[in-house]
Amino acid sequence: MPSGVPRIPRPEEWILKKICTRCGEEKPWAKFSPGSYWDDGSVRRVQSYCQDCHAEINRNRPKKPIAPERLAYLVDYKRQQRAALRAERTSDGKRLPSAPIRELLNRAVKDTEDWVLLGEQCRMSERIFRRVMVQENVTLRLADAICTRLGVRVYDLYPELEEAA
Ligand SMILES: [Zn+2]
Repeated sequence: MPSGVPRIPRPEEWILKKICTRCGEEKPWAKFSPGSYWDDGSVRRVQSYCQDCHAEINRNRPKKPIAPERLAYLVDYKRQQRAALRAERTSDGKRLPSAPIRELLNRAVKDTEDWVLLGEQCRMSERIFRRVMVQENVTLRLADAICTRLGVRVYDLYPELEEAA
């Protein structure tokens, strides 16, 4: 079913029988997908293979392999995200208060309310945003990355950085 909503067979489809040309079993029309309909919406013809056979064929169909360069990109992307999350948890590098970044993120997500989309925009896992929302501090590295991706200067959010530099 292309719509994903299972069609409810009409009563007569349980009475009419047909032999599947693949498994050779006689089954009611209800166990076949319709091939065509009459104008009143009733089934005119069913497919020659039963639904079980179609399901089996689909199960055995080899999955389309992911292109190598796409796979390499995904592996690399996941590794980066794990490293970023780990750094947020453990890094004892320079840390900044989270509040300005939190505000920036809340502003950035306001239009869509879609954290996953924002994550894609920032090329980060949206899990890292969730961490920022609850964590008191962020690493300078993450703050800088988020600012860069959102087109904000990290110095604008943390003026004290500029003074120190
Ligand atoms: Zn069959």
